[in-house]
Amino acid sequence: MADRTDALEWPMNLDVEALLRDGWHPTPFRQFIVKIHSRCNLACDYCYVYEMADQGWRDRPRRMTPATIALIASRIAEHVRAHRIPEVDLIFHGGEPLLAGIELIRHAVTTVRSAVGPEASVNVRVQSNGLLLDSAFLRTFDELGVRVGISLDGDARGNDRHRRHADGRGSHDEVRAALERLTAGRYRHLFGGLLATVDLRNDPVATYEALLEFAPAEVDFLLPHGNWNSPPPGLSPGEHATPYGDWLIAAFDRWYGAPVRETRVRLFGEIIRLLLGGASRIESVGLSPVAMVVLETDGSIEQVDTLKSVYEGASATGLHVARDSFDAVLRLPSVAARQIGDRALSAQCRGCAIRRVCGGGLYTHRYRAGSGFANPSVYCADLVRLITHVHQVIAGDLREGTA
Ligand code: SF4
Repeated sequence: MADRTDALEWPMNLDVEALLRDGWHPTPFRQFIVKIHSRCNLACDYCYVYEMADQGWRDRPRRMTPATIALIASRIAEHVRAHRIPEVDLIFHGGEPLLAGIELIRHAVTTVRSAVGPEASVNVRVQSNGLLLDSAFLRTFDELGVRVGISLDGDARGNDRHRRHADGRGSHDEVRAALERLTAGRYRHLFGGLLATVDLRNDPVATYEALLEFAPAEVDFLLPHGNWNSPPPGLSPGEHATPYGDWLIAAFDRWYGAPVRETRVRLFGEIIRLLLGGASRIESVGLSPVAMVVLETDGSIEQVDTLKSVYEGASATGLHVARDSFDAVLRLPSVAARQIGDRALSAQCRGCAIRRVCGGGLYTHRYRAGSGFANPSVYCADLVRLITHVHQVIAGDLREGTA
C-alpha cells in the first residue's frame, strides 16, 4: 500500500472553479458502473477490490437493495435529461455481479430503462467471471439485451495462476464451460468479449491464441495494477527494461500480422486510432475525458475502482445517490482531473513526444506518495516501447500502401 505523506496531493488542490472560469466544461457521465453485488465467488490474488490497498468492501452491503437501485435510476435519468445524452452504458460489476441473482439484475435493468424513458437508449453489460452463467441467466440476458464480458487470462495454466477459488482450485474449466454455453449456440450474440490481465510468466502468443479459441469479437489486455510506491510484478521503475512493453509487442505482432483480422484488441486498436489522429475511447491511453462513474452497493458514488489499488479511500468521493446529483460529482477535483486532457499531466508527460497517444497511461498507475497523480505512468518505459513499435509498424504499412 502506498504510504501517503500529504493530504493535498494532486489533484486535491486542483481549482475547479478557476477551470470553469477559464471556459472548461465538464463532460457528462455516459458510463455507469453498478456494483450490484460486493462479494465474489473467486479469490483472484491480484484483485484490486479485495486484495489491494482499499478494504472498503468489508463495510458494504453484499447486495444492492431495490431502494438503492431506484435512487440510482432516478439520478441517471436526471443526468440524461439535464445533458440530453442520447445513449448511456449501464455496466454491472462486482465482486461478481451474477451473485446478485437473476431477479435483482432484471429489476435493475428495467428500473433504469423505465426511469430514463425513450429519450435515451440504455446499453447494458455485465462483466463476469462466468462461473454462474447458466441457461437461466442466458435466457434473461437474451430477453433484456444484456451483453456479457468474461474475464479469462489465457490457457488453463495462465488463467489459474491467479484466477482461483478460495481453496486454491483453478477456475479455468468452469469458465471454459461457461464460455461454451455462451458462444456455442443461440446466445453467441450476447458475447461481449474477453478481458485478460497480463502476467509476464505467461507466453503472450499462447495467451492470445487461447483467448481466440472462443472467437471473441473483442479482447482486452489489462496491465496489473501498480504505482510508483507499489510497482507491478516484475517491474523496476526507472530501469531500462520494458517487460510489459515487450510482452504486449509480441501479442501485437501476432495479432496485427495475422492474414485475417481474428478479433479486435482494444488496447492496440485504440493506440492505432490515436496514432492516426483520432480520440481514445478507453481510459488507459489518450487524453479523452473519462466519463465513467461507479455506484457501490450502498449507493455511494465513487471514481473508477481501479483506484482501490492505490490507497484506502482513493476512489471515494464522499457523495451518495440519495443526496447528490452526478453534476455535483463532476465538480470534484478528483473527477475534473480525469477530464482536462493534458492539463492533468505531469511536467515530464507534457514534454513527451508521444503524450497525445499515451496520455500518461492509466491514471491509477501514476500515483506516487507526495505528488499524488501528477506523475508519468509507472509503466512509462513500457508504454514508450509499445507505442513506438506500433507507430513504426503502422507507418511502414502506410508507406508501403502509398509507394
Ligand atoms: S507516461 Fe511516459 S510515455 Fe506516457 S506521456 Fe508520460 S512521459 Fe510520455
